[in-house]
Amino acid sequence: MNLCDPLTIKNIMGAFGLSFRKKYGQNFLTDKSAVESIAGFCAGDDTKTVLEIGPGFGALTHELAVRYEKVVALEIDRGLIPLLAYTLADDKNVTVIEADVMKADLASLLKEDFARGGVAVCANLPYYITTPILLKLLSSGLPFESITVTVQAEVADRLCAAPGTPDYGSLTVYSSYYGRSEKLAKLPPSLFLPPPSVESAVVRIAMYREKPCVPQDEELFFGAVRGAFCQRRKTLANALSSAFPDISKSEIAAAAERAGISPSARGETLSCSDFVRLSDELAAAAKAGAAGEN
Ligand code: SAM
Repeated sequence: MNLCDPLTIKNIMGAFGLSFRKKYGQNFLTDKSAVESIAGFCAGDDTKTVLEIGPGFGALTHELAVRYEKVVALEIDRGLIPLLAYTLADDKNVTVIEADVMKADLASLLKEDFARGGVAVCANLPYYITTPILLKLLSSGLPFESITVTVQAEVADRLCAAPGTPDYGSLTVYSSYYGRSEKLAKLPPSLFLPPPSVESAVVRIAMYREKPCVPQDEELFFGAVRGAFCQRRKTLANALSSAFPDISKSEIAAAAERAGISPSARGETLSCSDFVRLSDELAAAAKAGAAGEN
């Protein structure tokens, strides 16, 4: 069975009484060579298990099953579960689970896989929920080797942007804190059924085993990143004084100077390591302020 053939997809969906559900972001890939490439991109030094989010009709799932020892695929749409049992009947190394990835306990689901190592994520993500899924995966603390995702081209540009460019934002800094993103392919709408209204791109995030920059206070680091990009047009000192009302603007400016960053710079020019140094100095300023009050 050719799982990328539009007519086959339509006929089998019809036979199972299913139609494409927009609310779940169902745009299925219909280009075999694109699907093969995406499945190949996710390979790391030692990839054994692949977590797929949203197997849909099963085209990518099948190509993953061909290449890796084990595939665990989470699908929210109950109607697709019996269909996947049919389309993936020969792929004995695939486990399809009916689940919302946002609610799933990935640590328990993949406990044994994480224990033996070599777990990667591969997905053609539903576009209505791309960023929340990425943030969940990145901040999970789980030892994923890599995360390979098809996303809207605009999100791909944000993930891979360099400091000082218009696409650079909080998502870029968050993802660069956890790993290194690389855009590997562009996919036009014509490769999907039904075609989405936007261009898509494949991004691979190679997760750091050890993060190159670690802040003293992670919450404060994320707060500084959010604060800086919440008001992009403001200078760093102004944006951060709104985000941290308990630290005076002059203390924020002094903390930035100590971190080697101009208080009049804009957040979008700061790299992840700049934000780490800045948040460490802000932590010191907050501590000194609290000690002064006592
Ligand atoms: N992997 C298939 C492909 O590449 O052709 C389908 C990709 S389609 C863009 C997204 C898939 O994610 C759909 O099957 C959809 O039902 C599923 N999905 C949407 N939201 C989900 C969620 N919260 N958790 C798990 N799966 C979800």
